[in-house]
Amino acid sequence: MRDNILYFVIPCYNEEAVLVDTAKVVYEKTVKLIEQKKISEKSRIVFVNDGSKDATWEIIKKLHEGKEIFAGINLSRNRGHQNALLAGLLTVKDDADMVVSMDADLQDDINAVDEMIEKYHDGCDIVYGVRSKRETDTFFKRFTAESFYKVMNMLGANTIYNHADFRLMSKRALNELAGYSEVNLFLRGIIPMIGFKTDVVYYERGERLAGESKYPLKKMLSFSIEGITSLSVKPLSMITYLGIGVFLISIIMLLYSVIQFFRGVTVAGWASIIVSIWAIGGLILLAIGITGAYIGKIYLETKGRPRFIIDEYLNNNK
Ligand code: UDP
Ligand code: MG
Repeated sequence: MRDNILYFVIPCYNEEAVLVDTAKVVYEKTVKLIEQKKISEKSRIVFVNDGSKDATWEIIKKLHEGKEIFAGINLSRNRGHQNALLAGLLTVKDDADMVVSMDADLQDDINAVDEMIEKYHDGCDIVYGVRSKRETDTFFKRFTAESFYKVMNMLGANTIYNHADFRLMSKRALNELAGYSEVNLFLRGIIPMIGFKTDVVYYERGERLAGESKYPLKKMLSFSIEGITSLSVKPLSMITYLGIGVFLISIIMLLYSVIQFFRGVTVAGWASIIVSIWAIGGLILLAIGITGAYIGKIYLETKGRPRFIIDEYLNNNK
Protein backbone atom coordinates (compact mmCIF):
# COMPACT_ATOMS: atom_id res chain seq x y z
CA MET A 1 0.00 0.00 0.00
CA ARG A 2 1.24 3.49 -0.82
CA ASP A 3 1.56 6.21 1.83
CA ASN A 4 -1.75 7.78 2.46
CA ILE A 5 -1.74 11.31 3.77
CA LEU A 6 -4.55 12.99 1.83
CA TYR A 7 -4.81 16.73 1.42
CA PHE A 8 -7.88 18.44 0.01
CA VAL A 9 -7.08 21.69 -1.77
CA ILE A 10 -10.06 23.99 -2.15
CA PRO A 11 -9.67 27.42 -3.78
CA CYS A 12 -12.11 29.98 -2.44
CA TYR A 13 -13.01 33.37 -3.80
CA ASN A 14 -15.74 35.26 -1.99
CA GLU A 15 -17.26 32.02 -0.72
CA GLU A 16 -18.51 33.15 2.69
CA ALA A 17 -22.03 32.02 1.78
CA VAL A 18 -21.04 28.40 1.32
CA LEU A 19 -17.75 27.86 3.11
CA VAL A 20 -19.04 26.74 6.52
CA ASP A 21 -21.32 24.13 4.94
CA THR A 22 -18.58 22.93 2.61
CA ALA A 23 -16.16 22.66 5.50
CA LYS A 24 -18.67 20.52 7.41
CA VAL A 25 -19.27 18.13 4.52
CA VAL A 26 -15.57 17.73 3.69
CA TYR A 27 -14.75 17.36 7.39
CA GLU A 28 -17.27 14.56 7.87
CA LYS A 29 -15.97 12.79 4.81
CA THR A 30 -12.36 13.10 5.92
CA VAL A 31 -13.09 11.83 9.43
CA LYS A 32 -14.93 8.86 7.95
CA LEU A 33 -12.02 8.07 5.64
CA ILE A 34 -9.62 8.26 8.59
CA GLU A 35 -11.86 5.95 10.65
CA GLN A 36 -11.97 3.49 7.78
CA LYS A 37 -8.16 3.67 7.73
CA LYS A 38 -8.26 4.68 4.09
CA ILE A 39 -6.21 7.79 4.80
CA SER A 40 -3.75 8.87 7.48
CA GLU A 41 -4.86 11.00 10.44
CA LYS A 42 -2.27 13.53 9.29
CA SER A 43 -4.63 14.35 6.40
CA ARG A 44 -5.72 17.95 6.01
CA ILE A 45 -8.37 20.10 4.39
CA VAL A 46 -6.65 23.15 2.93
CA PHE A 47 -8.63 26.20 1.86
CA VAL A 48 -6.83 28.62 -0.41
CA ASN A 49 -8.18 32.11 -0.06
CA ASP A 50 -7.78 33.79 -3.43
CA GLY A 51 -7.86 37.41 -2.29
CA SER A 52 -11.54 37.37 -1.31
CA LYS A 53 -13.19 40.66 -0.52
CA ASP A 54 -15.60 39.13 1.97
CA ALA A 55 -15.10 37.23 5.24
CA THR A 56 -13.74 34.08 3.59
CA TRP A 57 -10.28 34.28 5.19
CA GLU A 58 -11.74 35.02 8.64
CA ILE A 59 -13.89 31.90 8.31
CA ILE A 60 -10.88 29.82 7.27
CA LYS A 61 -8.85 31.11 10.22
CA LYS A 62 -11.69 30.22 12.59
CA LEU A 63 -11.97 26.74 11.14
CA HIS A 64 -8.23 26.27 11.57
CA GLU A 65 -8.34 27.44 15.18
CA GLY A 66 -11.27 25.16 15.91
CA LYS A 67 -9.96 21.95 14.36
CA GLU A 68 -6.46 20.89 13.53
CA ILE A 69 -7.59 19.16 10.37
CA PHE A 70 -8.38 22.50 8.71
CA ALA A 71 -5.50 24.36 7.14
CA GLY A 72 -5.48 27.59 5.18
CA ILE A 73 -3.39 29.43 2.65
CA ASN A 74 -3.92 33.13 2.14
CA LEU A 75 -2.80 34.55 -1.19
CA SER A 76 -1.62 38.13 -1.22
CA ARG A 77 -4.35 39.07 -3.72
CA ASN A 78 -6.85 37.64 -6.20
CA ARG A 79 -5.03 35.66 -8.91
CA GLY A 80 -7.86 33.61 -10.38
CA HIS A 81 -8.95 30.02 -9.90
CA GLN A 82 -6.05 28.35 -11.76
CA ASN A 83 -3.32 30.22 -9.89
CA ALA A 84 -5.06 29.73 -6.56
CA LEU A 85 -5.28 26.01 -7.22
CA LEU A 86 -1.65 25.85 -8.30
CA ALA A 87 -0.59 27.76 -5.19
CA GLY A 88 -2.42 25.23 -3.04
CA LEU A 89 -1.05 22.18 -4.87
CA LEU A 90 2.55 23.33 -4.83
CA THR A 91 2.41 24.51 -1.23
CA VAL A 92 1.08 21.25 0.19
CA LYS A 93 2.87 18.78 -2.06
CA ASP A 94 5.72 18.09 0.37
CA ASP A 95 3.35 17.34 3.25
CA ALA A 96 0.90 15.16 1.36
CA ASP A 97 1.08 11.82 -0.45
CA MET A 98 -1.99 12.55 -2.53
CA VAL A 99 -3.97 15.72 -3.10
CA VAL A 100 -7.59 16.06 -4.16
CA SER A 101 -8.53 19.42 -5.64
CA MET A 102 -12.15 20.50 -5.67
CA ASP A 103 -14.35 23.59 -5.80
CA ALA A 104 -15.61 25.34 -2.71
CA ASP A 105 -19.25 25.16 -3.78
CA LEU A 106 -19.54 21.35 -3.47
CA GLN A 107 -20.61 20.94 -7.08
CA ASP A 108 -18.15 18.08 -7.19
CA ASP A 109 -19.42 14.94 -5.50
CA ILE A 110 -17.22 14.32 -2.47
CA ASN A 111 -18.20 10.63 -2.46
CA ALA A 112 -16.20 10.12 -5.64
CA VAL A 113 -13.12 10.53 -3.48
CA ASP A 114 -13.32 6.92 -2.19
CA GLU A 115 -12.96 5.62 -5.70
CA MET A 116 -10.15 8.07 -6.42
CA ILE A 117 -8.22 6.79 -3.40
CA GLU A 118 -8.77 3.19 -4.52
CA LYS A 119 -7.37 4.01 -7.93
CA TYR A 120 -4.43 5.74 -6.28
CA HIS A 121 -3.65 2.53 -4.41
CA ASP A 122 -3.98 0.65 -7.69
CA GLY A 123 -1.02 2.67 -8.85
CA CYS A 124 -2.62 5.66 -10.59
CA ASP A 125 -0.82 8.96 -10.21
CA ILE A 126 -3.64 11.08 -11.57
CA VAL A 127 -7.34 10.31 -11.23
CA TYR A 128 -9.69 12.65 -13.10
CA GLY A 129 -13.20 13.34 -11.89
CA VAL A 130 -15.44 13.38 -14.97
CA ARG A 131 -19.00 14.64 -14.99
CA SER A 132 -21.42 11.98 -16.14
CA LYS A 133 -24.15 14.51 -16.88
CA ARG A 134 -24.78 18.18 -16.61
CA GLU A 135 -28.49 18.24 -15.98
CA THR A 136 -28.26 20.56 -13.01
CA ASP A 137 -26.45 23.25 -14.99
CA THR A 138 -28.54 25.77 -16.89
CA PHE A 139 -28.79 25.23 -20.63
CA PHE A 140 -26.59 28.24 -21.21
CA LYS A 141 -23.83 27.04 -18.85
CA ARG A 142 -23.96 23.56 -20.33
CA PHE A 143 -23.85 24.81 -23.89
CA THR A 144 -20.97 27.22 -23.30
CA ALA A 145 -19.00 24.72 -21.23
CA GLU A 146 -19.40 21.88 -23.72
CA SER A 147 -18.51 24.10 -26.65
CA PHE A 148 -15.48 25.13 -24.64
CA TYR A 149 -14.13 21.57 -24.53
CA LYS A 150 -14.91 20.98 -28.19
CA VAL A 151 -13.30 24.18 -29.44
CA MET A 152 -10.29 23.62 -27.20
CA ASN A 153 -9.70 20.17 -28.59
CA MET A 154 -10.25 21.33 -32.15
CA LEU A 155 -7.59 23.97 -31.71
CA GLY A 156 -5.09 21.50 -30.38
CA ALA A 157 -5.43 22.04 -26.64
CA ASN A 158 -6.09 18.52 -25.44
CA THR A 159 -8.12 18.36 -22.29
CA ILE A 160 -10.14 15.59 -20.66
CA TYR A 161 -13.75 15.98 -21.80
CA ASN A 162 -16.10 17.15 -19.05
CA HIS A 163 -13.36 17.18 -16.47
CA ALA A 164 -12.89 20.40 -14.52
CA ASP A 165 -10.48 20.61 -11.63
CA PHE A 166 -11.82 17.79 -9.46
CA ARG A 167 -8.95 15.33 -9.45
CA LEU A 168 -6.54 13.36 -7.33
CA MET A 169 -2.82 13.73 -7.89
CA SER A 170 -0.02 11.80 -6.22
CA LYS A 171 3.07 13.43 -4.76
CA ARG A 172 5.05 12.17 -7.74
CA ALA A 173 2.69 13.80 -10.24
CA LEU A 174 2.74 17.06 -8.27
CA ASN A 175 6.53 17.11 -8.26
CA GLU A 176 6.44 16.80 -12.03
CA LEU A 177 3.81 19.54 -12.26
CA ALA A 178 6.18 21.81 -10.33
CA GLY A 179 8.63 21.41 -13.21
CA TYR A 180 6.31 23.22 -15.61
CA SER A 181 7.62 26.66 -14.85
CA GLU A 182 5.50 28.59 -17.35
CA VAL A 183 3.71 31.60 -16.00
CA ASN A 184 0.61 31.15 -18.16
CA LEU A 185 -0.28 27.81 -16.69
CA PHE A 186 -3.47 26.12 -17.82
CA LEU A 187 -3.80 23.19 -15.44
CA ARG A 188 -6.42 21.20 -17.35
CA GLY A 189 -4.17 21.11 -20.37
CA ILE A 190 -0.83 20.69 -18.59
CA ILE A 191 -1.78 17.86 -16.26
CA PRO A 192 -2.60 15.36 -19.04
CA MET A 193 0.90 16.12 -20.40
CA ILE A 194 2.48 14.72 -17.24
CA GLY A 195 1.53 11.18 -18.14
CA PHE A 196 1.97 8.26 -15.68
CA LYS A 197 -0.83 5.80 -15.03
CA THR A 198 -4.13 7.67 -14.97
CA ASP A 199 -7.80 6.83 -14.70
CA VAL A 200 -11.17 8.57 -14.51
CA VAL A 201 -13.96 8.44 -11.95
CA TYR A 202 -17.48 9.43 -13.01
CA TYR A 203 -19.69 11.54 -10.80
CA GLU A 204 -22.80 13.62 -11.10
CA ARG A 205 -22.21 17.30 -10.81
CA GLY A 206 -24.65 18.94 -8.45
CA GLU A 207 -25.81 22.49 -8.15
CA ARG A 208 -23.82 25.19 -6.41
CA LEU A 209 -24.71 24.92 -2.73
CA ALA A 210 -24.94 28.68 -2.16
CA GLY A 211 -23.52 31.91 -3.49
CA GLU A 212 -23.00 32.83 -7.10
CA SER A 213 -20.84 31.42 -9.87
CA LYS A 214 -17.49 33.19 -10.02
CA TYR A 215 -17.24 32.37 -13.71
CA PRO A 216 -19.41 34.73 -15.72
CA LEU A 217 -19.28 34.52 -19.51
CA LYS A 218 -16.54 37.13 -19.73
CA LYS A 219 -14.21 35.14 -17.46
CA MET A 220 -15.11 31.93 -19.27
CA LEU A 221 -14.16 33.47 -22.62
CA SER A 222 -10.84 34.76 -21.38
CA PHE A 223 -10.27 31.39 -19.71
CA SER A 224 -10.66 29.57 -23.02
CA ILE A 225 -8.47 32.06 -24.89
CA GLU A 226 -5.86 31.60 -22.14
CA GLY A 227 -6.13 27.85 -22.50
CA ILE A 228 -5.79 27.79 -26.25
CA THR A 229 -2.91 30.24 -26.49
CA SER A 230 -1.11 28.54 -23.59
CA LEU A 231 -1.26 25.08 -25.03
CA SER A 232 -1.35 25.21 -28.77
CA VAL A 233 0.22 27.03 -31.69
CA LYS A 234 -2.48 25.77 -34.05
CA PRO A 235 -4.11 29.21 -34.43
CA LEU A 236 -0.79 30.44 -35.82
CA SER A 237 -0.70 27.76 -38.50
CA MET A 238 -4.37 28.44 -39.21
CA ILE A 239 -3.42 32.02 -40.11
CA THR A 240 -1.01 30.62 -42.65
CA TYR A 241 -3.72 28.44 -44.22
CA LEU A 242 -6.08 31.37 -44.21
CA GLY A 243 -3.45 33.44 -45.99
CA ILE A 244 -2.93 30.72 -48.63
CA GLY A 245 -6.70 30.46 -49.15
CA VAL A 246 -7.15 34.20 -49.57
CA PHE A 247 -4.19 34.28 -51.96
CA LEU A 248 -5.74 31.52 -54.11
CA ILE A 249 -9.04 33.36 -54.21
CA SER A 250 -7.27 36.53 -55.30
CA ILE A 251 -5.64 34.65 -58.22
CA ILE A 252 -9.07 33.42 -59.33
CA MET A 253 -10.40 36.95 -59.01
CA LEU A 254 -7.48 38.23 -61.10
CA LEU A 255 -8.21 35.73 -63.89
CA TYR A 256 -11.88 36.59 -63.69
CA SER A 257 -11.23 40.32 -64.07
CA VAL A 258 -8.84 39.78 -66.99
CA ILE A 259 -11.49 37.66 -68.78
CA GLN A 260 -14.17 40.22 -68.02
CA PHE A 261 -11.88 42.94 -69.34
CA PHE A 262 -11.33 41.17 -72.69
CA ARG A 263 -15.01 40.39 -72.97
CA GLY A 264 -15.52 44.11 -72.75
CA VAL A 265 -17.82 43.94 -69.79
CA THR A 266 -17.18 46.94 -67.63
CA VAL A 267 -17.20 45.95 -64.03
CA ALA A 268 -18.92 48.35 -61.74
CA GLY A 269 -15.99 48.26 -59.38
CA TRP A 270 -17.07 50.12 -56.30
CA ALA A 271 -18.87 47.37 -54.41
CA SER A 272 -16.26 44.72 -54.98
CA ILE A 273 -13.42 47.04 -54.01
CA ILE A 274 -15.09 48.13 -50.83
CA VAL A 275 -15.94 44.55 -49.95
CA SER A 276 -12.39 43.38 -50.53
CA ILE A 277 -10.92 46.21 -48.52
CA TRP A 278 -13.07 45.25 -45.59
CA ALA A 279 -12.42 41.56 -45.97
CA ILE A 280 -8.67 41.93 -46.29
CA GLY A 281 -8.56 44.52 -43.53
CA GLY A 282 -10.46 42.17 -41.26
CA LEU A 283 -8.23 39.25 -42.04
CA ILE A 284 -5.09 41.29 -41.43
CA LEU A 285 -6.39 42.55 -38.12
CA LEU A 286 -7.38 39.05 -37.09
CA ALA A 287 -3.96 37.74 -38.01
CA ILE A 288 -2.20 40.53 -36.13
CA GLY A 289 -4.45 39.95 -33.17
CA ILE A 290 -3.66 36.26 -32.93
CA THR A 291 0.04 36.87 -33.42
CA GLY A 292 -0.15 39.58 -30.79
CA ALA A 293 -1.69 37.18 -28.30
CA TYR A 294 1.31 34.90 -28.60
CA ILE A 295 3.79 37.76 -28.46
CA GLY A 296 2.05 38.92 -25.31
CA LYS A 297 2.59 35.46 -23.86
CA ILE A 298 6.29 35.52 -24.76
CA TYR A 299 6.57 38.91 -23.11
CA LEU A 300 5.03 37.64 -19.91
CA GLU A 301 7.03 34.41 -19.91
CA THR A 302 10.35 36.23 -20.32
CA LYS A 303 9.56 38.31 -17.29
CA GLY A 304 9.21 35.12 -15.25
CA ARG A 305 6.98 36.77 -12.68
CA PRO A 306 5.90 34.71 -9.67
CA ARG A 307 2.61 32.96 -10.28
CA PHE A 308 1.34 33.51 -6.77
CA ILE A 309 2.49 35.02 -3.51
CA ILE A 310 1.54 33.41 -0.22
CA ASP A 311 0.76 35.67 2.66
CA GLU A 312 0.22 33.00 5.32
CA TYR A 313 0.13 29.18 5.58
CA LEU A 314 -1.75 27.82 8.57
CA ASN A 315 -1.11 24.12 9.15
CA ASN A 316 -0.29 22.37 12.39
CA ASN A 317 1.54 19.61 10.53
CA LYS A 318 4.27 22.06 9.72
N1 UDP B 1 -12.37 30.77 -7.63
C1 UDP B 1 -11.13 31.28 -7.22
N2 UDP B 1 -10.70 32.48 -7.74
C2 UDP B 1 -11.43 33.18 -8.66
C3 UDP B 1 -12.68 32.63 -9.10
C4 UDP B 1 -13.11 31.42 -8.57
O1 UDP B 1 -10.45 30.69 -6.39
O2 UDP B 1 -10.99 34.26 -9.06
C5 UDP B 1 -12.84 29.47 -7.07
C6 UDP B 1 -14.23 29.49 -6.48
O3 UDP B 1 -14.22 29.93 -5.15
C7 UDP B 1 -14.64 28.04 -6.62
C8 UDP B 1 -13.95 27.59 -7.88
O4 UDP B 1 -12.92 28.54 -8.14
O5 UDP B 1 -14.17 27.25 -5.54
C9 UDP B 1 -14.87 27.47 -9.07
O6 UDP B 1 -15.65 28.64 -9.20
P1 UDP B 1 -17.22 28.62 -9.49
O7 UDP B 1 -17.87 27.52 -8.70
O8 UDP B 1 -17.76 29.98 -9.27
O9 UDP B 1 -17.24 28.27 -11.04
P2 UDP B 1 -18.37 27.44 -11.85
O10 UDP B 1 -18.59 26.16 -11.09
O11 UDP B 1 -19.57 28.30 -11.88
O12 UDP B 1 -17.74 27.22 -13.19
MG1 MG C 1 -19.07 25.99 -9.22
